Amino acid sequence: MRIILFGPPGSGKGTQGDLVERRYGFPKISTGDLLRRAVREKTPLGIKAEAMMNRGELVNDEIVEGLVREKIAAPDTRQGYLLDGFPRNLAQVQSLEDMDGRRPEVIIVIDVDERSLVERMQGRLTCRKCGAVYNLLLQKPRAEGRCDVCGGELYKRADDRPDVIRERLRVYQEETKKIRAHYQAKGVFYRVDGSGTVDEVFGRISGILDRELASGEANKAQR
Ligand code: AMP
Repeated sequence: MRIILFGPPGSGKGTQGDLVERRYGFPKISTGDLLRRAVREKTPLGIKAEAMMNRGELVNDEIVEGLVREKIAAPDTRQGYLLDGFPRNLAQVQSLEDMDGRRPEVIIVIDVDERSLVERMQGRLTCRKCGAVYNLLLQKPRAEGRCDVCGGELYKRADDRPDVIRERLRVYQEETKKIRAHYQAKGVFYRVDGSGTVDEVFGRISGILDRELASGEANKAQR
């Protein structure tokens, strides 16, 4: 199954994407994670992207499309994949459809009100070594400042500052209105309430995926 997880920055897409990957086995392709890794490793692409990311602006379409194309072509995505943070505008929607003509079956938008988003992003910490994400409000690390998974140092993302957060939310609202309309018209669009605990939100998402998987199986059996 091809899934697009959608939602404003701070809505918990990354965390939910990891849980979906763990339960259903669809590899998560996160353009934000891929870009942050390129920045950490100081690759030519990372050096190009860093300033735009730190200002909360979108990185050039060609850069992210290249990253996604490479991942989608990998053999582990044959059964499907989950996109997190891509597509972010209509040009990227088009390029995804060119890359993978099979239409995505499920688009899930995680909706969270703006005040909670700002609070969450200000409390967010990321592991410098493995990229795991924590939240001082919802998902604290066991030891202060250290990653539960690998023991790496936790840091605050440069783009999780209040002024940049506001810019990222503005960019999200502006770009995604059109994307929502596009997928709503295709009839593959679901909205999920992103309030509550990580487990509560995952319960809502897995409810949708279980129903979709069951109906896919039923359709196959009828053929
Ligand atoms: P995220 O982790 O998804 O919030 O992404 C962090 C930053 O990476 C964004 O603010 C953008 O600068 C950049 N980025 C991530 N995904 C995309 C994309 N699909 N298109 C353009 N820029 C992106």
